[in-house]
Amino acid sequence: MVRKCTFCGNFKKIDEFYKTKRDNITTECKACLSDRGKTGYRKNPERVIARSIEWQKNNRELQNEINRKSYKKHREKRLKHLKKRVDFLYDPYIKRLIISNFGIERDEITDDMIELKKTELIITREIKKIKRAVLNAY
Ligand SMILES: [Zn+2]
Repeated sequence: MVRKCTFCGNFKKIDEFYKTKRDNITTECKACLSDRGKTGYRKNPERVIARSIEWQKNNRELQNEINRKSYKKHREKRLKHLKKRVDFLYDPYIKRLIISNFGIERDEITDDMIELKKTELIITREIKKIKRAVLNAY
């Protein structure tokens, strides 16, 4: 089954059109809608953002459901990303630690502080490793 896109005028397969809420099919194909979305955003990002916020306000329940689904869907990826930041002691992670440990502002953090905190973390991690090894030896 094919359908004619009202925007580009091409005949395309049904799965190249989005389904609407009531199981209808959009009159424009996915590619055209996506293109228009992108150029619309480039031309006037404020308007697109304002409309998106407005939509979210009026569709709170639906938005919550979308957030929940997205949270579940990307959970693994997010955890992996977070673990990488912690494992490799990336600066943003170190900065956040310094802010929460010492209660200072982000722009008060110096490079020296970051280096010191990193060193501290590396040492603490090494100590933990040694402790674990010692405990396992008995
Ligand atoms: Zn099209």
